Parts: sequence; C-alpha cells; structure tokens
Amino acid sequence: SNPILEVNNLKKYFDVKGGVFGRKVGEVKAVDDVTFTVNEGEILGIVGESGCGKSTTGKALLRLIEPTDGEVKFEDQDITQLDDEAMRKLRKDMQIIFQDPYASLNPRHTVEKIVGEPLLVHGMKSAEERKKRVKELLEVVGLRPFHASRYPHQFSGGQRQRIGIARALANNPKLIICDEPVSALDVSVQSQILNLMSDLRDEFNLTYIFIAHDLSVVKHISDRVGVMYLGKLVELADKDELYENPKHPYTQALLSAVPVADPDVIGDRVILEGDVPSPSNPPTGCPFHTRCPAAMDICSEVKPEFKEDSDQHYVACHLYD
Ligand code: SF4
Ligand code: MG
Repeated sequence: SNPILEVNNLKKYFDVKGGVFGRKVGEVKAVDDVTFTVNEGEILGIVGESGCGKSTTGKALLRLIEPTDGEVKFEDQDITQLDDEAMRKLRKDMQIIFQDPYASLNPRHTVEKIVGEPLLVHGMKSAEERKKRVKELLEVVGLRPFHASRYPHQFSGGQRQRIGIARALANNPKLIICDEPVSALDVSVQSQILNLMSDLRDEFNLTYIFIAHDLSVVKHISDRVGVMYLGKLVELADKDELYENPKHPYTQALLSAVPVADPDVIGDRVILEGDVPSPSNPPTGCPFHTRCPAAMDICSEVKPEFKEDSDQHYVACHLYD
C-alpha cells in the first residue's frame, strides 16, 4: 500500500494570552509531535475525547490553520512549504467535511450555488457545465436533481450532510478529512451517511481521515484506528487488532466505556478517574498518568515514546518498554 499522506512530528501550539497587556502567559500544545501515515484508499479513524486535538490535527493537515512545526507530505510533497497559490491549487485534491453541515452551508445560497462554488473556484467558468455537474453530484450522494434549486433550511440534517459531501466531491478529491461528520445526526441517520461514505470511497478510490469521539462509529468504517490524548497520538493499529488487543490503558478505558449493547465488549469496565487535565498545563511524563490505572513511578517523570510494539501496532506507554 502506497502512503498518500505522511505526517511527521506535527505540532500546533496556541499562545495563551493574559493580564492587562494581553502578553503571552503560556502555550497550549493542541497537537504535540504527532506522526502517522495514511495509505492510498484507506480509511484512518482518529478517536479521542473532545479537546484532545483531533480536529486541530485535521485542520492543520490542510493548513486551514498553520502548523507550528512538522512535515505534512501529500503525495511526497511537503505542503507546509508551499506558497498560497500552490496550496490553493492543491486544495482541489484535499477536502474537509465538518461536523455541523448546517453551519458550513451558506443559508442564503441555493444548493446549486453551494455545490457549484468549488467548481467555479477551480476554473469551471461555464454556468451550464456547473449546473450539469451539480446535478450529477446530487445523484451521487443520494439526492435528486431538483434539490439544486432549494436552500439548506429545506433539508433534514442527514440531507444537509449529503450536500456537504457533494460539495467536497465536486473536484474529484483524493483525500477527504471527515471531522465528526455524523456526530450531529440522529443515530438512525448516522449509519446511512456512513454507508454512503463507505460506498463513495470504493467508487471514487478516496482516502479518508475519519475523526470521531465515538469508537463505535469509527469501528465500522475504518481500516486502521489511531487514538489521541491531550494532543498526542497514544496508539495506532489495524482496526481489528486495536479493538481485540488494545495496548494503551487509555484505549482500554475508552473501549470498556462503549455501551454494553455492543456484543464485542466483554470483561470489566474500566472507569477513568478525574477529568482530562488542562491542555495549557499538561502533566509531566506520560500525559495520561493522572488518570491511568496502571501508572508506575516512571510515568510521571519520563514521556513514553510512540513506537512499534508489534507488527504495525504503535503505542506510547512504559508498559511496553
Ligand atoms: Fe499509564 Fe504509564 Fe502507560 Fe502512561 S506510560 S499509559 S501512565 S502505564
Ligand atoms: Mg472537534
């Protein structure tokens, strides 16, 4: 399998300002030294609690926010080094779908305008051609051609996400970052959208990075899954391997917190103690040590390295030193 995206030591730090002069008083390491690859045609799930840096990672990969440091190689080209014009052209190949389709669709624009806009931006000047392509795209995502003349408020949540997907597909992208695309939808609609996305991946040979806080969502759609905690990737493995043999105590806790209706969950539930620490004042050593049921003395002192423990199964935890 060919890597389409290689992310090396990606960092995104935000300044924390305070006091009457608004001086920098600290730093939030929202994404802290994250390294992974995404293979062409695969779906890589990224999971973690809110505030763990998964959305920031997604945006930094497309430079919708500028990374503080690190390399993002898309088809062997480090896109962090590209100028605005080169980056603008590349955006055709790399798209993002957001959690709240309503917020990302202009309420005053028709679907034709919304879905046609990226076509115009990337050079399809003819309104006739755009109209035709929009209708085609609507059918691809399970909507009807006559929906083109309607406005976002005339659709259900699931239909709006289909519009968002149609827009993302407009210019035949290669990679789509999906930032919690079904989290705002009713459970009954979630699986329809997930099935659609899965079919589209096969049909158009797409690659997805699929961000979610819900392990059950990622389980069905992903080929591999990465787990983030406080800005760090703490585990990454093949989907089945991760769910059957989770190595990091945080992943084990997340899995045990999946509702028991999931027949795959057996054994004891691990209850995590304490809240997620503030990202502006993260714990020393292993960021998880304040909540980890397996913490040892070394854990509060030495940061565990993210490394391959068994074949293609990566983990950052002193239990595997
Ligand atoms: Fe727990 Fe220590 Fe492993 Fe961190 S390094 S997850 S604190 S055992
Ligand atoms: Mg988010």
